[in-house]
Amino acid sequence: MTLSSVPLATSDIQIPEGARRNSTLICVPIMADSVDQMLGQIRKAKEVGGDLVEIRLDYLKNFSPRQDLQFLVKQSPLPTLVTYRPTWEGGQYDGDEGKRLDGLRLAIELGADYIDVELQVAPEFINSIRGKTSGNVKIIVSSHNYQNTPSAEELGNLVARIQATGADIVKIATTALDITDCARIFQVLAHSQVPTIGIAMAERGLISRILSAKFGSYLTFGSLEAGVVSAPGQPTVKDLLDLYNFRQIGPDTKVHGVIGKPIGHSKSPHLYNSAFKSVGFNGIYLPLLVDSVKNFLTTYSSPDFVGYSYTIPHKEDGLRCCDEIDPIAQAIGAISCMIRRPADGKLMGYNVDYLGAIAAIEEGLRASNGTTSVGSPLAGKLFVVIGAGGAGKALAYGGKEKGARVVVANRTFEKAKELASKVGGEAMTLAELENFHPEDGMILANTTSVGMKPNIDNTPLSKKALSRYSLVFDAIYTPKLTRLLREAQESGAIIVYGTEMFINQAFVQFERFTGLPAPKELIREVLVRNT
Ligand code: NAP
Repeated sequence: MTLSSVPLATSDIQIPEGARRNSTLICVPIMADSVDQMLGQIRKAKEVGGDLVEIRLDYLKNFSPRQDLQFLVKQSPLPTLVTYRPTWEGGQYDGDEGKRLDGLRLAIELGADYIDVELQVAPEFINSIRGKTSGNVKIIVSSHNYQNTPSAEELGNLVARIQATGADIVKIATTALDITDCARIFQVLAHSQVPTIGIAMAERGLISRILSAKFGSYLTFGSLEAGVVSAPGQPTVKDLLDLYNFRQIGPDTKVHGVIGKPIGHSKSPHLYNSAFKSVGFNGIYLPLLVDSVKNFLTTYSSPDFVGYSYTIPHKEDGLRCCDEIDPIAQAIGAISCMIRRPADGKLMGYNVDYLGAIAAIEEGLRASNGTTSVGSPLAGKLFVVIGAGGAGKALAYGGKEKGARVVVANRTFEKAKELASKVGGEAMTLAELENFHPEDGMILANTTSVGMKPNIDNTPLSKKALSRYSLVFDAIYTPKLTRLLREAQESGAIIVYGTEMFINQAFVQFERFTGLPAPKELIREVLVRNT
């Protein structure tokens, strides 16, 4: 089925600037050898916008309980959560258990706002403090699973066991082996009757930490520095606040993201979240590290999960999961953008990759010819596309549409043949391309990931071969100036950056996601700042 029209506004309430739309706290873990270092980190936590700090006593060397706790709790400018994590629950403390629990009791006595005690010892511990606390402290009873995320039923039972201890706040931290594991954490948060902290740890659990604000987690953890984390997968406070607009996330916030694997390098979250914020759009855009597109879409099928960009290696799988596909995406065999239609929840696929790239190549050619003709300057040109994946198909179809003579070269020759036959072009191997020189003034478009970060010294075509091209485009945009583009420039060719393709298709996607005109200047600025 094809699309009858190209909508789409998932549009929504506008968010007033600076509004805080959730009560989820940002807790900064404090891990240092000494109390002085800890206090320094606590002050920094306040500066960067944390709401409370988790003082990890198990990291302290030479811990003097009364003196150190008094100092930290009294000096802290933020509310304190005191945790003394034993090695048997993933922490650093491997001493006497009685002393450890005494430390926590002391923290209560000295005025800590929260303490965290592990489920395994919680019943006994809570019994031991019953009637002896001022009542201001909140007891978090926690369970950590470093292997996996259990079934919804098992998690439900776990919550019930934690609640039965008399916990003020339930904390469940599991390990996400797949991004769909986060959905079970969201389910726990959505159904819990008591304040609950739910987190899926590790890279595939990142969305659980950010969407904690949408699903009502009591708190989420944000580190002071990237990589200096108390549990795998923690984002920084700065990223939570500035990149993901954490305070503006509400229960009705619409979820968008870029689906790929790997996805850590993607600039798209910077771009769309800034753009959403600038127009007050009630949406968030996440990096989505997806192993199976089908499982992801089946799991996150609620009306609030509304729009996705697709990147390597999921553009073709994405197409297979659409309910409706626009004709260009159908012809290309890959999508770059998917929208859930608000009216009926149907998933609609588009390919907007080629729009930006072809427009940028045409601009480059026009500028070099000094022409402003209405016809495409690509018409009649020999247009060599390296790569036959999603971007390769988009460029090859785009070139064909503009009347170019298309040549496709690809590592897997079969794929080059298949694509070339679809666009009425010629196929060749990468080795053949090295000596391909039927005429001067050819146009080259690299659509492989060869030369992309971190492998920036790689290039898909030798410098010698590049001298035969008048214009070279590289779809890669990290780095902006790839080795291919640098050598093409040195060989006298006009170069067109992948960022141009990215920017143009970002304008289109933004408009599809929001139903609003794209803030073009802002999008350009964010991209410049992040490349
Ligand atoms: P894809 O569908 O997975 O296709 C990857 C292509 O790269 C295939 O042709 C593959 O050849 C080739 N390739 C991968 N590793 C190679 C190697 N070591 N040597 C030779 N060829 C290799 O990916 P895609 O979505 O088309 O994306 C490809 C590139 O375009 C990425 O760098 C991506 O970031 C970029 N891109 C940029 C934009 C933008 O807006 N600027 C948009 C989309 C994509 P085989 O067929 O032999 O595997």
